[in-house]
Amino acid sequence: MIKRALSASAAAACPQFLFAGKENQSVKPAREFDVIVCGGGPAGWAAAVASARKGANTALIEQQGCLGGIWTSGLVCLILDWRNKGGLLRELLAALDKTGAQDAPHLYDPEAMKFALDSFCAAAGMSPSYSSPSLFQIRDGWTVFMVNHEFAVPCDDAEMYTAHTVAARAEINKMAAALRALGGVWKNMRLALTASHLGIREGRRLRGKYEITAEDVAREARFEDAVCRVEYWTDIHGLDASSRAFSDGGMKSKPYDIPMRALESADFSNLYMAGRCISGGFIPHASYRVTGNAAAMGEAVGKKAAARSLG
Ligand SMILES: Cc1cc2nc3c(=O)[nH]c(=O)nc-3n(C[C@H](O)[C@H](O)[C@H](O)COP(=O)(O)OP(=O)(O)OC[C@H]3O[C@@H](n4cnc5c(N)ncnc54)[C@H](O)[C@@H]3O)c2cc1C
Repeated sequence: MIKRALSASAAAACPQFLFAGKENQSVKPAREFDVIVCGGGPAGWAAAVASARKGANTALIEQQGCLGGIWTSGLVCLILDWRNKGGLLRELLAALDKTGAQDAPHLYDPEAMKFALDSFCAAAGMSPSYSSPSLFQIRDGWTVFMVNHEFAVPCDDAEMYTAHTVAARAEINKMAAALRALGGVWKNMRLALTASHLGIREGRRLRGKYEITAEDVAREARFEDAVCRVEYWTDIHGLDASSRAFSDGGMKSKPYDIPMRALESADFSNLYMAGRCISGGFIPHASYRVTGNAAAMGEAVGKKAAARSLG
């Protein structure tokens, strides 16, 4: 199996890691890859496609039955901070637009997204392993019902994560039943689907060669090794039910760069990160984590990992 990756536990803990290179060969491989991408969310998908397009024999390991992470399994298919991004994200948006999958500005149909992400992988010659309630209309007769916010669920506490997933689903079912009971336009309402897992904003992060700081956000940081420019605001969500749903915490962010060094592990020369798990503090994470940036970071490290592995 895996030529260059060891550390299944690290990969499991922090899903968007990339391994490349020749270290860590103590694990006996049964199949070999140049680059292994763990986690097929926006960052992992982009990393894997970029790597495969560079000619690297690439594995993409995803625990769910579809790619996309928050875009698909999380049913949050609203792409934020896309405007100044080119590359794969721009290609993906164009492909989705061709199929009429855009429901509202940069809000996409999750099923079309699953199909598009698979198609990009196939075209690259690679296949994956397999606050406030709001209600808004996306098309005539189609309404998105976005409810439930679970607070203070640590990313590494499996029991709490499970309990909150069950509680969230129960709450959504209760709300759907209550709406149905109102009759009228709600009479025939059915709950089609709930996300297959809770979305988690803050997970583990890796220590990189550089850690993005709040000062970087405030000072409009520019780096020679920039991989993407973040234009999204500092979107701090309440950490418990008694806090404000979200605020900027007094931080007026200006467009700032993410340097490649924040995506390179400080401790392993063949390990890269992209998306939520890159090296950065709480304040910058509240801004760079959205999916437009995640995809751009993934594409950058996918290319880098492929080049590193192919020598
Ligand atoms: C409730 C909520 C709402 C949000 N709203 C928006 C929004 O509207 N727009 C926006 O752009 N961003 C939004 N964000 C932020 C954004 O979703 C994340 O920061 C973004 O998804 C990060 O991308 P990613 O690829 O790093 O991670 P994810 O999208 O979380 O993808 C990680 C992938 O790794 C997989 N994985 C995890 N563990 C393993 C394992 N052990 N083995 C294999 N695979 C594994 C997962 O199944 C998943 O597919 C929201 C976040 C949350 C929590």
